[in-house]
Amino acid sequence: MAGYTRIVVAVDLSSESATLVARARELAAEGAVIDLIYVQEPMDSVYLGVVPYGPVFVGMDQVEDRLREELRGKLSALGEEFGVPESHLHFLNGVPAKEIHRFAEENDTRLIVLGTHGQKGVQLLLGSTANSVLHGASCDVLAVRMREG
Ligand code: AMP
Repeated sequence: MAGYTRIVVAVDLSSESATLVARARELAAEGAVIDLIYVQEPMDSVYLGVVPYGPVFVGMDQVEDRLREELRGKLSALGEEFGVPESHLHFLNGVPAKEIHRFAEENDTRLIVLGTHGQKGVQLLLGSTANSVLHGASCDVLAVRMREG
């Protein structure tokens, strides 16, 4: 089988992400380009945390910066593990499904790989990233069923 020549793997940087990259590699054509995408969603400007001595307000800019650093590190480590060069690691900002669609369209993507936890009932109505990406994608989408689903 020839395989896909250009694959986008949408990773949430949980421990499941490696499974998705491995699956993408199985489906890739010789010399295929694999892009890994993580999309960070904007946080509210202030977070109210409740601690034993009362509520505290934490500046979200700092929290967001630290989180971004940590997640960028995870994306780099994932790329290193699978030999995906830095130029194909994409740390984007926005709504995940929207950014994944936009990237796929702009980069002649043939396949999007993502995970699904097999939501049922009311969760289906609420939607998930997998549902949102599947609806409206202009290329093939592989939703890899994660174990506990
Ligand atoms: P969820 O809808 O949160 O269960 O996520 C389903 C799948 O969508 C994950 O396994 C990832 O493949 C992808 N995904 C979820 N969140 C993100 C994100 N922030 N950036 C990129 N991909 C994501």
